[in-house]
Amino acid sequence: EAGRDTLRYYSPEMNVLAMERLTLERDLRRALQDDPSQLVLYYQPQVDAATGECVGCEALVRWQHPVRGLMLPGEFIPLAERSGLIVELGRWVLAEACAEQARWSDSGMQLPVSVNLSPIQLERSDLQPYVKALLQRHGMMKGALELELTEGALMNEDDHHLQAFNGLMALGCRFALDDFGTGYSSLSRLRRFPISRLKIDRGFVRTLPGNTDDEAVVRATLSMARDMGMDVVAEGVETQAQSDCLQQLGCRIMQGYWFARPMPADQLRAFVSGVRQP
Ligand code: C2E
Ligand code: CA
Ligand code: CA
Ligand code: CA
Repeated sequence: EAGRDTLRYYSPEMNVLAMERLTLERDLRRALQDDPSQLVLYYQPQVDAATGECVGCEALVRWQHPVRGLMLPGEFIPLAERSGLIVELGRWVLAEACAEQARWSDSGMQLPVSVNLSPIQLERSDLQPYVKALLQRHGMMKGALELELTEGALMNEDDHHLQAFNGLMALGCRFALDDFGTGYSSLSRLRRFPISRLKIDRGFVRTLPGNTDDEAVVRATLSMARDMGMDVVAEGVETQAQSDCLQQLGCRIMQGYWFARPMPADQLRAFVSGVRQP
């Protein structure tokens, strides 16, 4: 764009980026095959703001890279999706989250866990049998596993995704629509999918209170969810003022740093049993 000469400055940089990507991909493949202990799930509480009760949690993957240290999903999920490794990574996440949920349940803590699914996973016909085996192995109750998908997963035209949704729902899985409000799914399309929760994207929460447009979006989402029999979770709640505003608008369930950051499983147990209140 800047002219022909500039190319020679960009070109080596791009090679470095491509090399880095390949190295990271190789490292992730190795971690999945030989050393899955490099991967760890953090859990972020979902809190009923009216009572302070923890009503669920979202599993969020981290990668303890041997050289780079703790990596956030933004640094490796896109690469995993491009390379296809997301299928294996996604399986690891599902297996780990289900095993953990079952341990909680065994110790008397009934807490549903939400797992993020990539649309690529939904396209695999072996997802349903894989999840079925996990639920059976751990004797998990209906509703103990929630799957989070973004609106992109509703866009598939040939109804394959709809079938995948229905197959998983038949197993007792619930569905949450992630980052709601940032996509382009039409309401008529949304209605065809068995979704039980909408997660309001944190972009709409950030400007509360005060931004009347975003308040209107939250209000409209809540009223639509009510009409369609769905729950709503507000994401990215960082302040008391945001929490108060959301409650006034009629939203009770919240997730965000104001209540708790994502944390390892043992800390989550302590959080839920009240040792660490917000
Ligand atoms: P997401 O599903 O929207 O998850 C919420 C993200 O917001 C998490 O980032 C969480 O740490 C962060 N967050 C929570 N509360 C707050 C807050 O109050 N303020 C701010 N600024 N951020 C907050 P994280 O863990 O870095 O994950 C980023 C994204 O990576 C997730 O966004 C999700 O799309 C993806 N991801 C995470 N784990 C998995 C996974 O196991 N599989 C797949 N396919 N994607 C995953
Ligand atoms: Ca999510
Ligand atoms: Ca989200
Ligand atoms: Ca997001």
